[in-house]
Amino acid sequence: MPPLSQSVSEQLRASLHQAREDLLDTVRSRTDSPDDEAPSIGPLAHQGQSDDAPQSEMLSHNEQHLADHESNLLHEIDVAIGKLESGGAGICESCGRDIPEARLLATPTVRLCIECQEQLEKDQHSGRGPSM
Ligand SMILES: [Zn+2]
Repeated sequence: MPPLSQSVSEQLRASLHQAREDLLDTVRSRTDSPDDEAPSIGPLAHQGQSDDAPQSEMLSHNEQHLADHESNLLHEIDVAIGKLESGGAGICESCGRDIPEARLLATPTVRLCIECQEQLEKDQHSGRGPSM
């Protein structure tokens, strides 16, 4: 049984798709090519390019407009959408407990409960050593 109520998962799906659109819009506006209807991210981008023109280079160049943090975020969003579709959303990846709905709604890509998140941050801080 999915831990999320129908309305919560619908809100999450909506805000994840919105976040995805916003992110792609940001990237698109930076590529400075207003004629590009769709971003060339996805499996369709590789089809039917047999001309002499180096299309593949253009495509990969286009993807470089995704900064690291943006492609990470896009990945997070896709993972979250996938979990939403498969019914795995709202469950802490570390301890398996339910993540509070308010936390999910505030951060739809969240994957850990508060306790595990705090623990992770503690670990990361102690892993970095002294700040000098
Ligand atoms: Zn947890």
